[in-house]
Amino acid sequence: MSNPLPVVVGLGANLGPRRRTLQSAVTELRALSVPAAPFRISSLFETEPVGPAQPMFLNAAVLLSVALEPLDLLDRLQAIEHRHGRVRDVHWGPRTLDLDVLWIDGVAVDHARLRVPHPELPHRAFALLPLLEVRPDALTPEGQPLEAIAAFLSPGGITRVEGPEWGMTASEL
Ligand code: AMP
Repeated sequence: MSNPLPVVVGLGANLGPRRRTLQSAVTELRALSVPAAPFRISSLFETEPVGPAQPMFLNAAVLLSVALEPLDLLDRLQAIEHRHGRVRDVHWGPRTLDLDVLWIDGVAVDHARLRVPHPELPHRAFALLPLLEVRPDALTPEGQPLEAIAAFLSPGGITRVEGPEWGMTASEL
């Protein structure tokens, strides 16, 4: 166990009941989060797939705080993916649920299983835009605002379809 750190997890789904799967993943992320720490849910976005031809994705991001080592966090996220029937076959292929560690406050990881900040962040509007909604002042481990990187994203391919209420519980609405 380590001291709790804010993290942003990216969520994506393009097979099955996408919105319901993401709602269920948010519930499971709540259970990972340290009680009373900030927990924020981004808008829901529909995005064009990257890679082979496949259905449109729904994407979002969640800010939570975890008292876990980064690789333990990855294990927990992969366990949630597997509970939702994620089968890892085609690289960049369709998936019922994809959970990525996008950012951990002040932390850089360069490991065979985990790279943080997520190396594709500067190229993926569907990851960076939801991240900036839940943590607008996020910095890279070197101290650069992620917001500055967003200016270089190519526009298009992403549509905001719902506000953050899509993932909230009745008491938060
Ligand atoms: P993908 O099929 O795109 O979800 O890639 C999954 C693989 O990426 C997993 O086997 C992870 O070990 C690896 N990976 C590397 N960095 C990350 C990250 N920041 N978040 C999630 N998975 C990661």
